[in-house]
Amino acid sequence: MSSNQPDNEQQVLTEDSRFRFACHDTLPCFTQCCRDVNIYLTPYDILRLRRALKISSTEVLERYTRHFLARVTHIPVVQLEMDPETLNCRFVTDSGCRVYDNRPWACRMYPLDVASRSGEYMPIAGKERCLGLNEPASHTVGAWLESQGVRPYEEMERAFLQVVPPDFQPSSQMNPGLGRVLFLAYDIDRFIEIVNDPRFQTFYDVDDETLRRVREDDEALLHLAFRYVRSQMEELYKVV
Ligand code: SF4
Ligand code: SF4
Repeated sequence: MSSNQPDNEQQVLTEDSRFRFACHDTLPCFTQCCRDVNIYLTPYDILRLRRALKISSTEVLERYTRHFLARVTHIPVVQLEMDPETLNCRFVTDSGCRVYDNRPWACRMYPLDVASRSGEYMPIAGKERCLGLNEPASHTVGAWLESQGVRPYEEMERAFLQVVPPDFQPSSQMNPGLGRVLFLAYDIDRFIEIVNDPRFQTFYDVDDETLRRVREDDEALLHLAFRYVRSQMEELYKVV
């Protein structure tokens, strides 16, 4: 294989690696990857689905996800719920994804996924299942991620990861109450109720300009929610 013919069998890819891929509606596999899949959602995914569907985060979570606190860690787990009869994603149509502009991070990444080390990626589908991997068009991973609008999702996830206190280990047991506080980052409309409480500004030292901005800018609102959750975690973490 020549150097401009990237090898999709390569397992670990970096931003500069090239891979072959093109997805279009004439492929026999079109929309098959939107069926019977486990898609874990981030707080930013919920924010974007809320924007696409024009319903509250609480409704997005109730109508389109399966969510619970993990048994040991009590960390919230939020998954896109497939239709129980067809196993299709509820957003898939014959012509593709009806929330495409606000589709979740995992959907943007497909057919790639993040690998265990930062900055590394791997294909999660084989050429037999994802026929787009046999197409001649080639891209660097970095250019592909840019074109799929992945960067804001990565940035938000980095911010979300700062919410958990640094001495918390992913496998350690967390009080269920802390898990519920963490879940506020997913249910931004519940956080808005807290922000609208007149006591919020007094207790959390938030200036008028920040409050004005979060009322107009969902991303700023989510960052404030992360700050709030972090402060709650720090307060509660010490006493449990
Ligand atoms: S399986 Fe691959 S090529 Fe087929 S629709 Fe999904 S992403 Fe596109
Ligand atoms: S959200 Fe859209 S892209 Fe993701 S699985 Fe559902 S239909 Fe497919």
